[in-house]
Amino acid sequence: MYIIMLGAPGSGKGTIGNEICDKFNLVHLATGDIFRDEMKRQTELGKKAEEYISKGNLVPDEVTIAMVEGKLDKLENVLLDGFPRTIPQAEALDKYLESKGKKITAVINLDVPDKDIITRTSSRVICSNKECGASYNTVFMPPKVEGICDRCGSPLTKRKDDNPETIKERLDVYHQNTEPLIEYYTNKGLLESIKINIYSETTKEDTTNEAVKRINNRK
Ligand code: AMP
Repeated sequence: MYIIMLGAPGSGKGTIGNEICDKFNLVHLATGDIFRDEMKRQTELGKKAEEYISKGNLVPDEVTIAMVEGKLDKLENVLLDGFPRTIPQAEALDKYLESKGKKITAVINLDVPDKDIITRTSSRVICSNKECGASYNTVFMPPKVEGICDRCGSPLTKRKDDNPETIKERLDVYHQNTEPLIEYYTNKGLLESIKINIYSETTKEDTTNEAVKRINNRK
């Protein structure tokens, strides 16, 4: 099974993606997490990615596509979080999966208004353990113990690119490069869009249950 999480930065792709992975036993492949790990280890790929990520820009398609295909080669049953982010990436993924005789099961689009994205990302904290990658929000979804991950007990940190200027740039990049994927996957009959209002009573569980129901309907 191949599930794609689509949505603006801070829409909850990682959080809901983690839950979906638990329900369907999928591997969570988050391109942002992979890049952050490479940056932390100062690898060649990490240094290259940092030039773009620190400015809120996308890492070039050829670099990202090669990295993702290298990971997908070794995996089966995957949830892609943060990939594809451009039409050329989506086309490359289609070609790759077709060559392996595989298909995308569903594309879950988390639909959150821009103003909520800015509020959310400025209070986001993430788990420092790359194997875990859980994400919290100090206002809307705090961990049980301040500064500590509920899932694995590691310390929580703030992402460097979650600052107001970079968030604005990332949102612009999202609207220009990634939003067209909504139409791309709608035309392929794969899109499942879920509207999220961070001020309503809708919980992480509600959104997860809705996503799981939509995936089950397509299995
Ligand atoms: P994320 O954790 O998904 O918000 O990703 C953090 C940053 O990594 C993004 O702002 C991009 O700079 C970069 N990135 C992640 N995924 C991709 C992708 N599919 N294509 C290009 N850049 C990406």
